[in-house]
Amino acid sequence: MKVRVGVNGYGTIGKRVAWAISLQPDMELVGVVKTKPNWETLSAVKRGLRIYTLKENIREFHARGIEVHGTLEDLLNSVDVIVDATPGDVGATYKKIYESFARKAVFQGGEEPDVAEVSFNALVNYGEALGKNYVRVVSCNTTGLLRVIYAVSKLSKIRSVRGFIVRRAADLKEIKKGPVEGVVLDPPKPPSHHALDVNTVLKDLDIVTYAVVVPTTLAHIHTLHFVLERSVTSDEVLDALSNTPRILLVDGGLIKSTAELRELARDLGRPQGDIFENVVWSDSVLVRGDEVMLTYAVHQEAIVVPENIDAIRAVMRLKEKAEDSIKITDESLGIKRWLQ
Ligand code: NAD
Repeated sequence: MKVRVGVNGYGTIGKRVAWAISLQPDMELVGVVKTKPNWETLSAVKRGLRIYTLKENIREFHARGIEVHGTLEDLLNSVDVIVDATPGDVGATYKKIYESFARKAVFQGGEEPDVAEVSFNALVNYGEALGKNYVRVVSCNTTGLLRVIYAVSKLSKIRSVRGFIVRRAADLKEIKKGPVEGVVLDPPKPPSHHALDVNTVLKDLDIVTYAVVVPTTLAHIHTLHFVLERSVTSDEVLDALSNTPRILLVDGGLIKSTAELRELARDLGRPQGDIFENVVWSDSVLVRGDEVMLTYAVHQEAIVVPENIDAIRAVMRLKEKAEDSIKITDESLGIKRWLQ
């Protein structure tokens, strides 16, 4: 029998996770919760999804001619697990309701870590989430960091990681966010919160990150500097990266910008031009003995989608091993295949 899943919050992350759930052989998407009958609700209706809302908002939906299947409570009565993709810090306000229905919940990186029993990345700590009631999929930047750190950790114990993060200012639809000009230190005094968030998963890792925000919507860029416990070669690093799920290598001679990368994803038919992988520039890999530097792109709207699917499998114990869940998720989403 398929696990029944609901999604609370059908925005940038929620709509993508809902779509991904509908592709899984072991999951059924029961419906999505929208609070407002806006253009994103229209997209859900056109995609044939069942819409649920808050009791007090039903009339507003009907006034717009949108059929509502029930309330959030009705959805919770019909599912085994809920993915909370409401805005940052809103998810925590729903936790009591999920608890009162004894439903497992997968939260997002905009929540404080204590919303959940485990902060999650499929490659790093799938096993810790097995059977848990509340799991938090870490944010887009943290997911990107953890995947690459995981890949490099297969070569050698890591002494330290130092990272510089160039953050996109907003997602395409976020018409009220900025900056539209200038580069903003985020924050001026390091570390940026990304390193602290990595430490919610890899508690003992010595990591510091600096971040700046730039006026783009396309993707983040990270440059990392590792110090390892042994000397390695660039071929070893490239092999470790290309053998890691959800990491793609690209040639800087062909692609040297996030703009070309996202356009290529559109050209090759990725849904919404989504890129679920870390895209590492192979030419950026620089090795000097025990030091490794590299640069990669993170498509913020898409990178956590596969992790949400694996988090559902972990809490429901659909697969006991990370690699088994990752394989199903990645096949269903065409991960790595579109560019290899
Ligand atoms: P979003 O604003 O695009 O979507 C949130 C959705 O929740 C919208 O449909 C909104 O209408 C709905 N909503 C608002 N208030 C609500 C409420 N009280 N109850 C139920 N639904 C409500 O946000 P998003 O970018 O999808 O972010 C969701 C979560 O994912 C956040 O924790 C965020 O930090 C995290 N996240 C976002 C990104 C990104 O780049 N956008 C990347 C990784 C993680």
